[in-house]
Amino acid sequence: MKLRIYNTLSRKKEAFKPLHPPFVGMYVCGPTVYGEPHLGHARPAITFDLVFRYLKHLGYRVRYVRNITDVGHLEADQDFGEDKISKKARLEKLEPMEIVQKYTNEYRLKMMQLNVLPPSIEPTASGHIIEQQSLVEKILENGYAYEKGGSVYFDVEKYNKDHDYGKLSGRKIEDLIANTRDLEKQLEKKNPLDFAIWKNADPEHLMRWPSRWGDGFPGWHVECSVMSSRYLGGEFDIHGGGMDLLFPHHECEIAQTVAGYGKEAVRYWMHNNMITLNGQKMGKSLGNAISLEQFFTGEHKLLDQGYHPMTIRFFMLQAHYRSTLDFSNEALQAAEKGLDRLFDGIGALDKIIPSEKSSVSPDETERIFFNALNDDFNSPIAISHLFDGIKSINSAAAGNEFMTGSDIEKFRHFYQTAVYEILGLVPEGKDTGDQGLTEELIKLLLQMRIDARKNKNFELADRIRDEMTRLGVEVMDTKDGFEWKLNR
Ligand code: ZN
Repeated sequence: MKLRIYNTLSRKKEAFKPLHPPFVGMYVCGPTVYGEPHLGHARPAITFDLVFRYLKHLGYRVRYVRNITDVGHLEADQDFGEDKISKKARLEKLEPMEIVQKYTNEYRLKMMQLNVLPPSIEPTASGHIIEQQSLVEKILENGYAYEKGGSVYFDVEKYNKDHDYGKLSGRKIEDLIANTRDLEKQLEKKNPLDFAIWKNADPEHLMRWPSRWGDGFPGWHVECSVMSSRYLGGEFDIHGGGMDLLFPHHECEIAQTVAGYGKEAVRYWMHNNMITLNGQKMGKSLGNAISLEQFFTGEHKLLDQGYHPMTIRFFMLQAHYRSTLDFSNEALQAAEKGLDRLFDGIGALDKIIPSEKSSVSPDETERIFFNALNDDFNSPIAISHLFDGIKSINSAAAGNEFMTGSDIEKFRHFYQTAVYEILGLVPEGKDTGDQGLTEELIKLLLQMRIDARKNKNFELADRIRDEMTRLGVEVMDTKDGFEWKLNR
């Protein structure tokens, strides 16, 4: 079975055919860096990390562009109000670019903890002001925008006469007009649906650039049209983002690209669904916005404990990216146990004594695992097949099934590829590349403990054991020595 992707634009699953194989261009809308990274940031990052990793596994050479929005994103995602970054800068008494740097660093650190691979290119909106001005000029030249009071607005009605505004979100322009409140602040616009592609800066507005329309800043949607075409060309394969960006952000992006560059750029539009917390939408105003740092440390009144970044990652992958996902302590604790079971199962491969013949084979597990991923990255089904394989491994380790040495190796290779490489789930310590050394050092310490006991130095033996427990190494004494495991 070949890879099929659900395309938001066509509303169906389509066979994946890149424009220029083996190259794949992928653009994903990144964060607006004005606050602590939270759970909402983790879902698109992990979703498209799986896509990135899997496409690479299939042999594609992926150029993955994920932007950083550092200018132009106004409060309430509207064309008026304060810039989110400027507001934070004012509150924290910092320069806007200090806010940008601080939260970009935070975002990168959190993504690293979640084992999200860095994108190939991470461009910023403020680094592409000239290109954005030039797209605005092109749209003006082509007659799909107008200037008013130093701002430039996209003429949605005019565009919709020649093209289809609403094709991605499935919204009809008539319904949109009927549902728009005529806000006082929008009086400059010919039509309330029109959106700013360049905004005039008020005297107190901090983030501003000179332009032929006066000092101002680009509209939020413009950056993605510009940076995707700059780094991936006029046409590219995949554009991703959260479902909350479908309208107006991505709808406006298509309109700008067509109005400015003459044709649509994106072959497959992919959108991940939203996260809820204890069944409720998350938001600062609801008092249940939890940062990733708080999830990792457990320091939040709604959390019973801290959760390892791998637990968060595993939990997200246990749901399909197009389903909503509800976070709760119970669900995360179950995920924590599940992930332990998965890692322990992989470890149990070491305990199987090779037989002449195999009663279980890795081939079927492998086939159905990849079939699931090929079906629009169906990670929950893929993971359930991994657990079926783990059952066979555990019973072989217990002597109830048997495997040849080469099947044990095949299982090992498959689980390493599936779990570590494609799903990006790594036991603690594994990702450092020092796993072999760690194991050697643990064995050395345990041998020293046995020697200490032989010499009746029980104090030293106990201290070694206590310190190792503190570091997360669980030691079990057996009749022929010891066994140990790393507790995450
Ligand atoms: Zn975007």
